[in-house]
Amino acid sequence: MTVVRTRFAPSPTGFIHLGNIRSALFPWAFARASQGVFILRIEDTDEERSSQAAVDVILESMAWLGLDVDEGPFYQTRRMDRYREVIAQMLERGLAYRCYMSQAELEALRERQIAAKEKPRYDGTWRPEPGKVLPPVPAGVAPVIRFRNPIGGSVAWDDKVKGRIEIANDELDDLVIARPAAEPGGIGTPTYNFCVVVDDLDMGITHVIRGDDHVNNTPRQINILRALGAEPPVYAHLPTVLNEQGEKMSKRHGAKAVTQYRDEGFLADAVVNYLARLGWSHGDDEIFSREQLLAWFDLDHLGKSAGQFDEAKLRWVNAQH
Ligand code: GLU
Repeated sequence: MTVVRTRFAPSPTGFIHLGNIRSALFPWAFARASQGVFILRIEDTDEERSSQAAVDVILESMAWLGLDVDEGPFYQTRRMDRYREVIAQMLERGLAYRCYMSQAELEALRERQIAAKEKPRYDGTWRPEPGKVLPPVPAGVAPVIRFRNPIGGSVAWDDKVKGRIEIANDELDDLVIARPAAEPGGIGTPTYNFCVVVDDLDMGITHVIRGDDHVNNTPRQINILRALGAEPPVYAHLPTVLNEQGEKMSKRHGAKAVTQYRDEGFLADAVVNYLARLGWSHGDDEIFSREQLLAWFDLDHLGKSAGQFDEAKLRWVNAQH
């Protein structure tokens, strides 16, 4: 039997609230419940917003809650050579190509499409096809690299939370996988969606459990994985956690940092219990120990609707522990 391998892949931008850490709790619990492996990957490609101090806050929050990591942390910024290596192989194998359409041309194309009431999308000008003559390479345009998305058919997966999702390939563009290169023939900075695919593949991830703000990335990521000869993992896209006012939980809307609950004297096991219950159920059980959670946890009882955070309820759970 294949060993379960899950990951938590936060972007370290300085603040981590209970809604964020719940995206670590579920893959951790699933790995532990399945005698699997839990991996931590730091998605720090946005170098302006990422910092080591922010990574430390994530590590501290996970340590407090006892979400122990088997492999990592791996940092995306340290894996750039690997991403470029895969892009070079894809260029060689005709799975990706250089696109010399300038920003101005892309913008003009977009305006024409909007005026014609079409969905704005890249038109495939630079996509090589058998027998097709490509335009002459313009001077002075640093090309991006695009993935050759399949044409026709669809991409589908059975999401553990959302059910079956099917997207027509014609809805998907040829995704940019590397930004313009500084020198001709070079490979610029790999894009976020591409890094995720290479990481999930290299790390042997079997179950991607993440927030549903990434659902739109999934069909593209699956197509790239398949092009690379891999079978996609199982996906479970977790509904957002809302705050007491029904807004998406966020620092801006007053969410507290995870470590603040520690500092206020909350018990780690109670917070784990409360957060698990906020998006997963086990019959009528409200109060359970860490051991019970790990004995019971599965992906078949994840909640389909957004959980709403309620600090009074958390206090009540805390008092039961
Ligand atoms: N880095 C992403 C985030 O913080 C997670 C991406 C993923 O899990 O695939 O939302």
